[in-house]
Amino acid sequence: MKISIQNSISNLNAQFIGDCSDYTIDSISIDSRSLQNSATSLFFALVGPNNDAHHYIEDLIRQGVRYFVVNHIPENCLGKANFLVVKDTLIALQQLAISYRSQYNFPIIGITGSNGKTIVKEWLNFLLSPDFNIIRSPKSYNSQIGVPLSILGINSQHNLGIFEAGISTVAEMEKLQDIIRPTIGILTNIGSAHDEGFASIGEKIKEKLRLFSNCNTLIYNKNKTIDAFLNSRLNTFSWSFNDKEADVFIQKISGIENTQFQVKYKLNSFDFTIPFQDNASIENAIHCVMVLLYFNYDPLIIESRIRLLYPVEMRLKLKNGINGTTLIDDSYSSDFQSLKIALDFLESQKHHKKKTVILSDIFQSGLSNEELYSKVSQLIIANKINRVIGIGKTISEFKHKFVNCSTYATTHEFIEQFDSDNLRNETILIKGARSFHFEEIVTAFEEKTHETVLEVNLNAISNNLSFYKSKLKPETKMMVMVKAFSYGNGGVEIAKLLEHHCVDYLGVAFADEGIALKNAGIQLPIMVLNPETTSFEAIIQYQLEPEIYSLKGLNAFLKLAEQKNLRHFPIHIKLDTGMHRLGFESNTIEELIAALKGNQHVIVKSILSHMATSDAVEHLDFSLHQIKLFEILSQQLMVELDIQPIRHILNTSGISNFTHGQYDMVRLGIGLYGISNDQEEQKQLENVSTLKSVISQIRTISEGESVGYGRRFVAKCSTDVATIPIGYADGISRLWGNEVGYVSINKQKAAIIGSICMDMLMVNVTGINCVEGDPVIIFGDSPTVIEIAQKTHTIPYEILTSISQRVKRIFYRE
Ligand SMILES: *Cc1c(COP(=O)(O)O)cnc(C)c1O
Repeated sequence: MKISIQNSISNLNAQFIGDCSDYTIDSISIDSRSLQNSATSLFFALVGPNNDAHHYIEDLIRQGVRYFVVNHIPENCLGKANFLVVKDTLIALQQLAISYRSQYNFPIIGITGSNGKTIVKEWLNFLLSPDFNIIRSPKSYNSQIGVPLSILGINSQHNLGIFEAGISTVAEMEKLQDIIRPTIGILTNIGSAHDEGFASIGEKIKEKLRLFSNCNTLIYNKNKTIDAFLNSRLNTFSWSFNDKEADVFIQKISGIENTQFQVKYKLNSFDFTIPFQDNASIENAIHCVMVLLYFNYDPLIIESRIRLLYPVEMRLKLKNGINGTTLIDDSYSSDFQSLKIALDFLESQKHHKKKTVILSDIFQSGLSNEELYSKVSQLIIANKINRVIGIGKTISEFKHKFVNCSTYATTHEFIEQFDSDNLRNETILIKGARSFHFEEIVTAFEEKTHETVLEVNLNAISNNLSFYKSKLKPETKMMVMVKAFSYGNGGVEIAKLLEHHCVDYLGVAFADEGIALKNAGIQLPIMVLNPETTSFEAIIQYQLEPEIYSLKGLNAFLKLAEQKNLRHFPIHIKLDTGMHRLGFESNTIEELIAALKGNQHVIVKSILSHMATSDAVEHLDFSLHQIKLFEILSQQLMVELDIQPIRHILNTSGISNFTHGQYDMVRLGIGLYGISNDQEEQKQLENVSTLKSVISQIRTISEGESVGYGRRFVAKCSTDVATIPIGYADGISRLWGNEVGYVSINKQKAAIIGSICMDMLMVNVTGINCVEGDPVIIFGDSPTVIEIAQKTHTIPYEILTSISQRVKRIFYRE
């Protein structure tokens, strides 16, 4: 990509303030942490509800970035770089993409719909890549920001584009249409995703169809509701299982592990088979067949390619590897754009100092190999990767472009020859095109475990963090509670993510938890809620910050601080305003002040209190009283000690219900993990934790036969019973057994029958389509943790934190 600054100034209608407008840039950046920020990139300072990239400009100038698109020039930056000043930086980014797009006039496929967009895009890429040089959106970059970034990846070698567009509310699609300008449209389906953003299904359909307002042809599953909204000037190319008026009429025949289809199109008929049976895959595959028919592919070629469709993995998965390594599994794609994304992810997960990348040949960049591997090498250097292992003929030819690089012709050769003892305490990104079967490398290097896992969605955590930030004033600081392994989810990984998101503080319950985080390299300040006197030495040694809640604790800490001659060691003073758990009560404030006055060994970094009923409207008066008392007592401390500490009292439900009490900081806990006590707010949070297992065995029992200890389930008729290897020792309450609770298998509910055992439970799968080895969801989207908590008379906190440490945690990012 080459974009002249001069042209951009006029395209964006920008005011130029700088000394050199005669310049060409070759990349666009919006992320201040991304390592692609360099002298030849143009940085767009986007402004979000809780983040303003203008704050990072000074830093970026220091790192060598010279060109910025801004809505104002930040203080101290004038004269130090070149600025294109515009009203709205996001609109400018979109505008740049629009004018960039207009230089190209090859066919562009635009995909929208409620589900399946990314899969159809990835499959089309696979099916068409033998014949085209394709540019497509990386991963699921389909938003108001992702789409312009994807379009700006086009270069002169490309001759087909495949882009997806996603919207969550009205008026967004028109913008995406302007940017993508698809010539061929695909509407995958209209489901219920994002329903809350639209007044009616009609409004949603109309909005989605806007993507196709300038298309030559729309490909879709013929449907009367949609037809009613179609513009008569738009050509359509439709398919159907039951409407003979569709252009392509399809009949489906289920096989054992696949699905066969008979297609009638014009006067032809032909068959094809896909290696899937679920409805979503069937729909997605048919949309792909339709595109091939539209491009006049011969049925024989369609048949031979479609048979090879594979499951699309859209996630970057973080796994524990052998010898203390951490693996980032991205073994399904290799293109330059997604390499950038994967390297950014590697950077955000600073698990180990040492970083290795295992990389296959890269396809379809549209660049010459010489140019491509030079760019890859620059990227590798910028990301400070210690070692590169290249697999494939082409990357082997360009070995000389990399430092510390070994190469292998094939994946098989690598697995045979490579001594895995060479991998130790490092993070390894495994990224390869599908044809290289890098999943074999992942299997070889993965730590072996049993089948029950807790999957933690890191994107959902980021989303929930943004949601709570958006409820607060921009200057309010954020402490995030990561006690009890981040509410059962996994301490270090989540702390790393939070550090990446620049939260202000982490909170843990005990010193040990803080030490583990420090040992893992966390640099954020960490407050310890309940430091025992015996842990004070360690707290000082590891630079943790104790919460001091009693005179006894204070005196002990002051004594130690004096002995060690500490200066201004940060401490946090906890006041008891009604919770009656820990903290100084009003009648001890005078003594507290006397003890602290003039003491130079410590500094009161913050004053805090904790609310007992922030989640309960019926105790509104009590909560307001707590906040008032906190105000009075903290004021007294501040005045008499002449200090300006951070003040904080709100937990998650406090943030929701008592926003006026946010003071200088809040302490976010359960909300980050996707749980709110407010139903409306709950809709805006994303589910973070999914507990999964598999079916070990299925049997059929006859009427009168029983299941499990105590024979608490007796079959009333012939019943199919599946056994799942998870039990109360893993944290599943026995109250959830005996048909109170259920699990989800292939999206269907299966009741838990009989008593839950220590390591296993049994479910009723009569009438449910499943086989041994199928995945089982214990909780996640359905049932939710909230549902389980209600039925077992507890709270979501207890369900999450009870999941035993023997259950492996897997972290992923979408
Ligand atoms: C756990 C805890 C929090 C967080 O509470 P949530 O209800 O999970 O938001 C905040 N402050 C203190 C002192 C805590 O112990």
